[in-house]
Amino acid sequence: MTTTAPPALEELKLFIHGKSVDARSGRTFETQNPYTGQPWARLADGGPDDVDEAVASARAAFEGEWGAMTGFARAAVLRRCGDAIAANAERLARLEVNDSGKLYREMIGQLNALPQWYYYFSGLADKIEGRTVPPVNPNYFGYTRREPIGVVGAITPWNSPLLLLTFKLAPALAAGCTMVVKPSEHAPASTVAFAQILHEAGLPAGVLNVVTGWDRSTGEALASHEGVDKIAFTGSSATGAKVAQAAVANFNRVTLELGGKSPQIVFPDADLDAAANGLVAGVFAATGQTCMAGSRLIVHADVHDELVAKVVARAESIVLGDPNEAATEMGPVANRPQYEKVLGYLQGAAAEGAVFACGGEPDAERGGLFVKPTVVTGVTPENTIVREEVFGPVLAAYTFTDEDEALKLANDTPYGLAGAVWTKDVHRAHRVAAKLRAGTIWINAYRVIAPNMPFGGFGASGIGRENGIDAIGEYTENKSVFVELTGGTRDPFQLG
Ligand code: NAD
Repeated sequence: MTTTAPPALEELKLFIHGKSVDARSGRTFETQNPYTGQPWARLADGGPDDVDEAVASARAAFEGEWGAMTGFARAAVLRRCGDAIAANAERLARLEVNDSGKLYREMIGQLNALPQWYYYFSGLADKIEGRTVPPVNPNYFGYTRREPIGVVGAITPWNSPLLLLTFKLAPALAAGCTMVVKPSEHAPASTVAFAQILHEAGLPAGVLNVVTGWDRSTGEALASHEGVDKIAFTGSSATGAKVAQAAVANFNRVTLELGGKSPQIVFPDADLDAAANGLVAGVFAATGQTCMAGSRLIVHADVHDELVAKVVARAESIVLGDPNEAATEMGPVANRPQYEKVLGYLQGAAAEGAVFACGGEPDAERGGLFVKPTVVTGVTPENTIVREEVFGPVLAAYTFTDEDEALKLANDTPYGLAGAVWTKDVHRAHRVAAKLRAGTIWINAYRVIAPNMPFGGFGASGIGRENGIDAIGEYTENKSVFVELTGGTRDPFQLG
């Protein structure tokens, strides 16, 4: 009998000041491939002292070479970053597949789209302008300056590490900031490789630093660090609240991109085949592990059965399997804690009286971390499966009878990240889009994003916006300058 040695683990260190370095403690941790169940990479287990070093490096770059560059020069670097990502898209996509179990076809799509963010924000880097402000008092000339916030601490989740980092990094670089990023312990590898690639493409040392770490203390050290000026966080609402409290204690700026429980409202006049396709895209793509998952189907009672039958038929034909295979449509859940969480929600739904129109259990045939695509019916707006984010392939369907009721149900959530309306009535489509309390609304579509369209949430889905022109405002301070024009002396005891 011949035995094959397991493949050697890929080794990835911290990336600080343009160099790969070990954690000061010398500790490492392994990251598992959720499809094979095997460890595949070994990473440095950075702690608070490594965060200190990374923040000092980001500060030095901000006060040094990067901070001295013009917007035109930063724009040129951003364009080179975009080119380098395009040239390395396949390698980066494979790293993300290994770490998260997401499909190669999805991750290569993301990586191929990513340069667009750097090109778009390079186009803004040389257009960050203040204003001249008409005087109230003609003795003064007033103008404003947009200045970079400084050092940004970015904390990212495991579901799309590079895309979600890019939502922060591209505008931060355009604005002239520097960054320390702490990727998720469950999917840290691609971020380290990414930072190396951008550095080789011309991003000066210290502008982007990566500290990986196995336990909470690494993220906590960054969120509460007095040396950073802003925290940009993507993750769960519960963690986001803790991160924001830690950051605000230092008077740091914060943007939070958090969870969701997004509704898809289907009116009876909708193209039901298109809606069924959009529902599949919304909740089964990426195994439902996306913040913008359209996990609530709010469907008119007259078309409930027909639409659910269409979704179930498609859900039952979804090809589960190896994320690297081109034909695979759904991979495993990304890690064991998340898998246990999804199963817990399925058991809870059953206990609360839900009916599984399909799925509702692990895929016993495949084993591992596979869960069958699930459609839950017979639920009420109070059920846990309707109220809480599952972050898995689970759609909860319930009905309405008129537009007001549909809106009431859709907005009955602490979240507000996204939502969709499916109808052929153009008046209704815009009316409903205006009344949905969420940051992104799709009309007859789902799961579409773009670098120039703002993204972010209402309520428990977050604070601030990423993407779009206004994202520059999230990484700049607005400074007012008054210039005395007369040379005269004023009454020092009066407000000017
Ligand atoms: P998480 O909140 O558990 O972790 C996110 C990050 O925070 C990780 O890097 C983690 O190590 C770090 N962290 C954990 N505790 C911390 C603490 N006390 N202080 C500082 N950092 C800490 O989220 P997750 O499980 O990695 O990701 C899934 C969640 O992310 C879901 O809720 C999902 O909806 C959300 N998400 C939101 C968006 C969006 O853009 N709105 C995008 C993707 C994911």
